[in-house]
Amino acid sequence: MSDQVQNQTVADYFGCNVFSDTVMRDRLPKNVYKSVMKTKKFGVPLESDVADVVANAMKDWAIEKGATHYTHWFHPMTGVTAEKHDAFITPTGDGHVILEFSGKELVKGEPDASSFPSGGLRATFEARGYTAWDPTSNAFVKDDSLYIPTAFCSYTGEILDKKTPLLRSMEAVNEQALRILRLFGNDKATRVSTTVGPEQEYFLVDKKYYDQRKDLILTGRTLFGAMPPKGQELEDHYFGNIKQRVSDYMKDLDSELWKLGIYAKTKHNEVAPAQHELAPVFTTSNIASDHNQLTMEIMKKVALKHGLVCLLHEKPFAGVNGSGKHNNWSISSNDGQNLLDPGKTPQDNMQFLTFLCAIIKGVHEYAPLLRISAASAGNDHRLGANEAPPAVVSMFIGEELQSVLDAIENGTAVEKNSSNVFEIGVDALPNFPKDATDRNRTSPFAFTGNKFEFRMLGSADSISCTNVMMNTIVAQELCEFADELEKADNFKKALKNLLVKTIKEHKAIIFNGNGYSDEWLEEAARRGLPNLVSTVDALPHYLDEKNVAMFEKFKVYTKTEIASRTEILLENYSKVINIEALTMLDMSKKLILPAAIEYTKEISDAVASKKAIDLDTAVETKIAEKLSCLTASLYEAINTLDEKRINSKNHEDSAETLARYYRDEVFSSMQSLRAIADELEMTVSSKVWPIPTYSELLYTV
Ligand code: ADP
Ligand code: MG
Repeated sequence: MSDQVQNQTVADYFGCNVFSDTVMRDRLPKNVYKSVMKTKKFGVPLESDVADVVANAMKDWAIEKGATHYTHWFHPMTGVTAEKHDAFITPTGDGHVILEFSGKELVKGEPDASSFPSGGLRATFEARGYTAWDPTSNAFVKDDSLYIPTAFCSYTGEILDKKTPLLRSMEAVNEQALRILRLFGNDKATRVSTTVGPEQEYFLVDKKYYDQRKDLILTGRTLFGAMPPKGQELEDHYFGNIKQRVSDYMKDLDSELWKLGIYAKTKHNEVAPAQHELAPVFTTSNIASDHNQLTMEIMKKVALKHGLVCLLHEKPFAGVNGSGKHNNWSISSNDGQNLLDPGKTPQDNMQFLTFLCAIIKGVHEYAPLLRISAASAGNDHRLGANEAPPAVVSMFIGEELQSVLDAIENGTAVEKNSSNVFEIGVDALPNFPKDATDRNRTSPFAFTGNKFEFRMLGSADSISCTNVMMNTIVAQELCEFADELEKADNFKKALKNLLVKTIKEHKAIIFNGNGYSDEWLEEAARRGLPNLVSTVDALPHYLDEKNVAMFEKFKVYTKTEIASRTEILLENYSKVINIEALTMLDMSKKLILPAAIEYTKEISDAVASKKAIDLDTAVETKIAEKLSCLTASLYEAINTLDEKRINSKNHEDSAETLARYYRDEVFSSMQSLRAIADELEMTVSSKVWPIPTYSELLYTV
């Protein structure tokens, strides 16, 4: 732990590196502070003289914290954040410098945008894009720089980042949810926000082994590796006691996150050996997204200080559970309500059921979008592999809530199964059971009492896309509901009819059983729920007409922007597989094949020397034969993969065609190559085997 925080309590140093509202209130003139708050809350642009004052205060504060530079910090489509640092210095002409930072520099930056993915939106010759200060997210100091969260656009106005659509989608939910609240007679709430608490899984491995694995270094996952004698079958790691080295890491990580104002809260061991989880206290979606990006970055940095490497890849080890990110999502209004809390009064119950039904309808109608938000080459290894939800999107609401929906649909009364029940406002529904804590871990989208938990996301993914999808889908359904209800003469009656109709038409998306079973996949197919097995199957649906219409309606994306995003994601898929294939080829030609040959020679020599003194060589001969056979297969598999990869250039008609080729031809050849190499690993002496094994990676921290 750093000296700065050693003798302080968490409460003393929490957020000490954040230019927070409190810091602003202390350091800004009252009128300036008020304008900034207005900008923060209502998005009104900051006047330039006000911006100058804010910038100056920010600079002074940052310099006191040791900062020498500032950077606009943004989320381009690479999925990781980007930054370009400028020093505060301005030469005075006499060989000296003064430290300056203007309002203009705070509000707008112009990074060279040509090397960020744009999916054809911005030709390189008109490379300029700009970053615009996002005052909804606080600036902070890290590694001697002042970080200013920003949105990133092209000069022609197309968005090039993951932040802008998220803010737009939050705005859409705000507007539509307020319409619903007004219908329920609420005139107090003026702002509705979506909230997110992302649970982040990760692996820790020893750096000395990591450094010997080119696959981990270049691709984030092991491309080779036979299963260790012990896997996760004893189930002794989940919530198990935390080893000292890991515990020291977690402590250090927490304190670094707390300094940045990140509400790191829960930490524990996960199911797989060497796997862990961190969950923060939830906050509004945009801040949660910024914080999750920072959390991933700091997880990696702090690990290095402990001689560890933090792996965020979705599937670092074959045969061992991979890592996901559970996106806990809810909606709250600024009069203190969680709109997904069933509530205690009949009025609250009905309002809750309205939001619930809107979500059910939305998830049913736009399931492919949620699937797309979790689509990546890395996550393809997890979804549907009985460690993460299937690729079919469905919703779990639990038995008790199910009985309420059944009763609404059928116009019957809910059976009272406990004394702990709520009154409900519809005649046919006298009571509403309160407890919804039933947990179903196999559902991709589960109601967990007062929020939904979306469990498909991969650990390395930005949470931004998922939340853009969620927010926009829900805005769409709330808008449809509000359109219908606002024109009704009798609100109660219209609402009841609307809920009954919605449940009837959309209950097919609800599944409360075991999502990992084969029967469910068959049942889902009968229900007509899409099963978009891989990234390549899912992504093209981004451009389905109804999806485009919805995003355009709420001004989240234009069709051009969706096309560019689809293209970027498909290209990324092919690039990832290509890098993995190249890495496999490199390792198998330079390390694995030579090791196989060397060991074959060693055994053959043993055969020869034993023969010379008339000893029985049956065992050695058998091993040599097996080695020789495996080596030949390996050589063949290497050549096949080489050819397949080179042949990819004949499949470049479109990003989709290429991605399909990579999946069907290149990826499957990689799997064949791996199987042979792993068999060799089990045959060759560990003295000769050139790369650290799964046992070393998983059991030595
Ligand atoms: P579990 O592993 O049992 O699912 P965790 O405690 O690891 O639960 O994570 C639950 C996450 O849900 C936390 O990040 C928590 O802050 C978040 N959460 C709780 N309430 C809400 C809410 N209203 N909106 C969004 N996220 C929430
Ligand atoms: Mg958890």
